[in-house]
Amino acid sequence: MPQFRSLEQALKYFFGYDSFRPGQRQIVEEALQNRDLLIIMPTGGGKSLCFQLPALLKPGLTVVVSPLISLMQDQVEALRDNGIGATFLNSSLNPWQVRSREEAILKGKVKLLYVAPERLLSERFLPFLDLVQHQIGLYAFAIDEAHCVSEWGHDFRPEYRQMRQLRKRYPNVPVLALTATATERVRTDIIQQLGLRQPSIHIASFNRPNLYYEVQPKQKNSYTQVLKLIKQGNGSGIIYCLSRRKVDEITFKLQHSGIGALPYHAGLSDQERASNQTRFIRDDVQVMVATIAFGMGINKPDVRFVIHYDLPRNLENYYQESGRAGRDGESARCTLFFSYGDKKTIEYLIEQKSDEQEQRMAIQQLRRVIDYAEGTDCRRTIQLSYFGEHFVGNCGNCDNCCSPKPVQDWTIEAMKFLSCVARCQERFGMNYIIEVLRGSGNQKIKQNSHHLLSTYGIGKDKTADEWKMLGRSLLHQGLVEQTTDGYPILKLNARSWEVMRRQLSVSIVVPVAQTPTLEENPRAAEVEMLFERLRSLRKHLADEQSVPPYVVFADSTLKLMAQQQPQTLAEFGKLSGVGTHKLAQYGDRFVSEIRAYRQEQGLSTSTEIISPSVDNIEAKSPSYTQMQTLELHQQGLSVEEIAAKRNFTLNTIISHLTELIEMKQPVDLTQLVIPVRQELIKQAIKVVGADSLKTINEHLGESYSYDEIKLVRAWWRRENRG
Ligand code: ADP
Ligand code: ZN
Repeated sequence: MPQFRSLEQALKYFFGYDSFRPGQRQIVEEALQNRDLLIIMPTGGGKSLCFQLPALLKPGLTVVVSPLISLMQDQVEALRDNGIGATFLNSSLNPWQVRSREEAILKGKVKLLYVAPERLLSERFLPFLDLVQHQIGLYAFAIDEAHCVSEWGHDFRPEYRQMRQLRKRYPNVPVLALTATATERVRTDIIQQLGLRQPSIHIASFNRPNLYYEVQPKQKNSYTQVLKLIKQGNGSGIIYCLSRRKVDEITFKLQHSGIGALPYHAGLSDQERASNQTRFIRDDVQVMVATIAFGMGINKPDVRFVIHYDLPRNLENYYQESGRAGRDGESARCTLFFSYGDKKTIEYLIEQKSDEQEQRMAIQQLRRVIDYAEGTDCRRTIQLSYFGEHFVGNCGNCDNCCSPKPVQDWTIEAMKFLSCVARCQERFGMNYIIEVLRGSGNQKIKQNSHHLLSTYGIGKDKTADEWKMLGRSLLHQGLVEQTTDGYPILKLNARSWEVMRRQLSVSIVVPVAQTPTLEENPRAAEVEMLFERLRSLRKHLADEQSVPPYVVFADSTLKLMAQQQPQTLAEFGKLSGVGTHKLAQYGDRFVSEIRAYRQEQGLSTSTEIISPSVDNIEAKSPSYTQMQTLELHQQGLSVEEIAAKRNFTLNTIISHLTELIEMKQPVDLTQLVIPVRQELIKQAIKVVGADSLKTINEHLGESYSYDEIKLVRAWWRRENRG
């Protein structure tokens, strides 16, 4: 492994990131000092890196305990795509696969091993771990989703309790516990249950600055609102609904509107659920419509919007569910649709609970949600206060901060409304009252002789929607009541009379239609177009390897590509998110795409060749993955065999070998290109120069492949460097 001058350098080398996220650096430093750690970070905070980077820098194996097979596979795929030796052992493997993975571990080829807790503590596995400790060493145990150890948490798993045995059996191996749980009680429980030794505790802020929070009134045409959000959303999204029926309905409508959407709820078979989830993660469809059954284990980082079509039951749920947006740190939008009817539905569900204590708690929690939905303060402030975190001021990224809603005095209107309710003898619902106020010619009004009332037609100056807004606000503020037996009839209460007697004034929040819009400028449109192209290339490459697209590159990296449009591999390698391995594996394809795009658009394309800059290649030493390729090459395997064995494309292996050659590593060129052809290629380079593969190829004629030329050119460069 190369020596790193700084942790930042190692970060760039393995993961391609330029800097640490808040908290990460200190955690990594402490982990390197073999301390026990408790790491609490919100979803998307970047927990994984906190144990992955130390694991790569320390000798020995790191065992990662993870509760879900899907989570394990995703993480391992992402690591392997960064050229990092990672693997998992779980029930999805056959005994033969298990054995071969165990062998690889004992040979020191694996730095991170993911296992489920039940396997970790099995009679067969512990002796194997002993052997690992003896032969290559154990660096640490990282316990992911550590809240599963606590009965106070929401995902208690009894197997997690057994983990205490690890401490006894391997007293000197550090334990790192990670979770996104926000409550104090669970944190204490984790420390106790896992037997952490004076752990260093890191609690990151639960603020997610990249998420835009908003609440929209749910209207009759709310489906149209959803459609609009999806179209603006520009990427994957989740729509949460309260019931399975609603999930199916919305999915159906979306599919008919030409939007790729799939359902997810407990009524589907395990197989259907798993398949729908995979298709969502792989970007085969844009939208997942789901009940809250769609939860933990969804660590798709590039979810761009989360819509709550129905009211969530409590604020913690809302925080966690909406928090599935924007894990990658890029901006994302969280929209909550709120209607008074939803409040009623949940109240009805709560009333069905038999336990009185439970009922009270549920009502209390619902009230917090309503406060959030109706609140005119910063949404972030309201959410974070729920977790005991103090956030003051204007966040600049929620609807209330971006466009504070004007509050208006509607006392006169409220008096008109309430007296109309009184004159109709508290026997009608809101729509009827509004019709009377607006002087409608409805037959029913005539039959009831309500066209003769003094309040008939006194509200013509306002639209029906405006009256509804007032009516709803009066209900929320408790200035009027509504029956709950399914036929909502307006009833006056003591406070209604106070309003009518002018003892109480009424202010309501008047929403102004607003949505953040993309600035209209040609450059933005151009960037957007290239972004879409790069996105399809990413999807294509991901499908080739059957991994989710985000494993290839994160949205943020794709965006940087679209903005900066690097035209050489050297420039490309500087982008955040492009590590050594990804540069070798995908650099060519993306740079070519960018150049092709620029050419089509009539933009200048630099004449520089697409190859790693020669200056820094010499100073570089091979990466872990390149060393693995070298090893197989030295064992006499052909390029095809290495690619098959390592599950990489030929292209990747060729890039490894060319870089290895340039780094003066012992690559045997004759094994790759027969000597006569080597000679002819070298001669061609002497004539036309080494810059353009295409020119060399044209000079040589058709029977030479680009791969041969690349390899020989690398050799030539190595020999002819000043
Ligand atoms: P968590 O497990 O805390 O929810 P992850 O570990 O999955 O979060 O990280 C969330 C996202 O942030 C991932 O896409 C990851 O690659 C990215 N990420 C983590 N650390 C950094 C960093 N220092 N710079 C840029 N991106 C990062
Ligand atoms: Zn705000």
